[in-house]
Amino acid sequence: MAKILFNHVYKRYGKFKEVAVNDFNLQVEDGEFLVFVGPSGCGKSTTLRMLAGLEDISDGEIYIGDALVNDYSPKERDISMVFQNYALYPNLTVYENIAFGLRLRKLPKHEIDLSVKRAARVLEIDNFLDRKPRELSGGQRQRVALGRAIVRKPQAFLYDEPLSNLDARLRVQMRAEIISLHRKMEVTSIYVTHDQVEAMTMGDRVVVMNKGVIQQVDTPELVYNRPNNIFVANFIGNPPMNFIPGKLLEDGEDVDFHTNRFALRLTDKHAAQLRKHQLVGKTVILGIRAEHMSFESYELEQHSRSLITGVLEFGEFVGSDRYYHLEIGMDSLLIARAHTRYQFNNGMKVSVALDMEKALFYHRDTEILLT
Ligand code: ATP
Repeated sequence: MAKILFNHVYKRYGKFKEVAVNDFNLQVEDGEFLVFVGPSGCGKSTTLRMLAGLEDISDGEIYIGDALVNDYSPKERDISMVFQNYALYPNLTVYENIAFGLRLRKLPKHEIDLSVKRAARVLEIDNFLDRKPRELSGGQRQRVALGRAIVRKPQAFLYDEPLSNLDARLRVQMRAEIISLHRKMEVTSIYVTHDQVEAMTMGDRVVVMNKGVIQQVDTPELVYNRPNNIFVANFIGNPPMNFIPGKLLEDGEDVDFHTNRFALRLTDKHAAQLRKHQLVGKTVILGIRAEHMSFESYELEQHSRSLITGVLEFGEFVGSDRYYHLEIGMDSLLIARAHTRYQFNNGMKVSVALDMEKALFYHRDTEILLT
């Protein structure tokens, strides 16, 4: 078990030295389960592969424990990796696949046997030990791949989109199994996915990446509730956060957020922060999540200074709730969540009250969180 450190790590590919990973700095704590998430091509796999030793590092340093591993072979790094395509040997049985790494290490036969059977029991594949991978389902194959990773206690586990080939239900089950395995083994783990739900449900911390650059490293709660910038706010959460541009104007002691259709009163805390940034009189972007708006008539009366009225375009039924898409002028849509007891018809004019405590404000040009 070990902590892992990335120190100003870069990856440049090809003749044109295109930067795939750009000044990556991160400390992964001992025993932590960390998730890299971001859109396709953002550099998550490349970062993981540099750590595993499967890809050269163009610049910077990677440490596993106290050892600088830049020049170590994959084997010397003592880490186990689980891939999306399982990477099982088709001609070997499940038993032989799981035992493979231990045999390479020339461990005594009875020790190998003990380890393989223990891992197979934990993963509930002990009835398939004589089968070949082709005789297994996708979920069972992925369990064999996990088995191969856990038969020994490496310094770290790396997972590269291990569940992408499984159907939705099995994915949810395997997620829980991987986390419960992690709790038992407490080996430092890095898990790569492009699925934000997977990232949020599994990670102790989540690293959000875009175009080779880290955007935010935080707990799932913070990444969701206080996204550092508009990219993260858009990427994390479904539906994505709503964004509305508007101008901040003084009204006596208060500050209001104005569009040409409505004005919203800021909380004192937001007003003070935005004054400090000298943004009163300027345009900023307000961010608000679908669940932080209310259709309750009581709330509408209480919060007359935080109302937005729009025309209902359509509602999406998602079980206990419905997401209503409101046209609010300036070609903008607002998505607000309501309990299904509310029934609105398309084309109706409706108002929502914003929970201004939950509103976030972003800089118009840098798109960075202000308050
Ligand atoms: P995905 O979720 O699609 O796997 P990713 O976030 O893991 O994406 P990487 O596979 O790390 O992204 O790729 C990062 C960038 O590096 C991409 O722009 C990709 O095209 C580029 N890249 C990856 N491998 C190579 C390579 N061998 N040669 C040149 N460019 C590469």
